[in-house]
Amino acid sequence: MILRGIGASEGIGVGQAVCIKEEIFDYSHVVYSGAEKEKLRLGKAVEQFLEKTAGLLGRKGKIASQEETDILNGQSAMLQDPFLRSQMDEKMETGQCAEAAVDEICTMYVEMFEGAEEELIRQRATDVKDMRSRLLSLLLGRESVDLTGIPKGSILVVHDLTPSMTVGLNREQVHGIVTESGGRTSHAAILARALELPAVLGVEHACENIQDGDHMIIDGGKGDVLLKPASDTCLHYQKRQVRYQQERSRLEVYRNRSTVDGDGRPIHLFGNIAMPHEVDAVLKEQGAGIGLFRSEFLFLSRNSIPDEQEQFLAYQQVSNKMGDRPVMIRTLDLGGDKQADCLHIGKEENPFLGFRAIRVCLKRPDMFCMQLRAILRAGAQQKNLQIVLPMVTSVQEVRETKRLLEQCKEGLLQEGVPIQEDIPLGVMIETPAAVWIADRLAKECDFFSIGTNDLIQYTVAADRGNTNVEQLYSCFHPAVLREIQRTIQVAKSANILVGMCGEAAADPRLTPLLLAWGLDGFSVNASSILPMRRQLSLWKKEQAQTVANDVMQLETAEEIEQYLQQVQIQ
Ligand code: PEP
Ligand code: MG
Repeated sequence: MILRGIGASEGIGVGQAVCIKEEIFDYSHVVYSGAEKEKLRLGKAVEQFLEKTAGLLGRKGKIASQEETDILNGQSAMLQDPFLRSQMDEKMETGQCAEAAVDEICTMYVEMFEGAEEELIRQRATDVKDMRSRLLSLLLGRESVDLTGIPKGSILVVHDLTPSMTVGLNREQVHGIVTESGGRTSHAAILARALELPAVLGVEHACENIQDGDHMIIDGGKGDVLLKPASDTCLHYQKRQVRYQQERSRLEVYRNRSTVDGDGRPIHLFGNIAMPHEVDAVLKEQGAGIGLFRSEFLFLSRNSIPDEQEQFLAYQQVSNKMGDRPVMIRTLDLGGDKQADCLHIGKEENPFLGFRAIRVCLKRPDMFCMQLRAILRAGAQQKNLQIVLPMVTSVQEVRETKRLLEQCKEGLLQEGVPIQEDIPLGVMIETPAAVWIADRLAKECDFFSIGTNDLIQYTVAADRGNTNVEQLYSCFHPAVLREIQRTIQVAKSANILVGMCGEAAADPRLTPLLLAWGLDGFSVNASSILPMRRQLSLWKKEQAQTVANDVMQLETAEEIEQYLQQVQIQ
């Protein structure tokens, strides 16, 4: 049987299921012993909680990750918050036992956090649930879940993963994690990645379908959970697991290196992010900067537009963490497959060809200026921010943006607000129109960033999310390759930098072509930084040039893909 979820932490895990059922706390038998006594009971439980937390963090021979430490310290701080305690006290003063006070107040916070618009705030609900369970266990004199004794080679199957479960676990014991809740950016995902354990999250009914002791395999890249697999499947995955581990350890040597091609020529290797906290993963892999900050993610799943201050804080956080490394903030790319409720765009017949990205921004200059002002202010200290415009199809769009940008600068300077005055402006080359007017666009901007995800779909007229036409959607299509080559050539003649931030930048089969044509920068997801650093180092310009010449003689995407597959250096 195969269950499917979200691949949240790469790797293959093979082992036996250990299912952790959600605890049910029944305190109906507890007799209320008066407000003072109940408060004393709670006080004692809180003291034990704090001691146990310190114990978890300082457990001998085990090191808690920064993520685990932050979350557990956050729980202790919350429990020491006088306001929260006064809310619990009030409950006990009105005839509730300590257990009921803890349960009701924590549940109130869980519901509040779960209803928040910001994903990061919603994640806090898991932390409060964990805190509630641990406190109730202490009050009821029960042992809380302790996984330190679980057998070697276990795959944890839990409703949700909490740091009080993971601290102290080691990779010999746990080979993987499966949860029912959580997505790629949930705390469970962050913890799993910090522990470098394969994880598949959001697997519906996992705790019902998987039994303790079941033999299972998980693929943390694809999001597959294979239950009681046949022996030939096991063999196949065991081989993949060995290959994956060999590849990862081979990549470790690239962690502390600069990025160069086979001739030693430096290449900019950046990271792509959607939310500010993802910067940490890019820094861990020593990305040379952020080549794409998809700022629209700050606007998704909420009813109101984040104001200038909220955006400023998000951009400033990224700018400060990156220090002297560049950060390219792409202005709002809403519309298409990223519909923000807060913009009330309404239904369109062809959203990818409709009211999207720069078109929305220029129609709503107040909203656009709020973002531009936030970016200008956020770069005041580090002076490392750059602006990139999405879905540009005309020179006027860039000119109009520049006019608004100047207006925002003037306004802020008049208000006496510190800004990053000298801020490079780039254009995403992700429409065929942009490719064909690239020479004109180059006169208006400081750099290009090739967005292959959209460039492919607009070039071959195949929706990037439609599986019926996925065979047409190929970065190896000769038309797409010619567009990439032309864009790089134009940038070179205009003497501006050109990078690529679409998924194709991380496809090792394209590396020789991009190097041969002279691409300056590659921006990829954090997990692709080390593989790409290795891949780039394998190609000398002359060899890459030969491959590029051969490819341009071929006629179909299939031939090109096959050829590039064959010449790949392992
Ligand atoms: C692209 O189109 O290649 C790109 C990087 O932008 P997005 O995937 O966010 O549309
Ligand atoms: Mg795009």
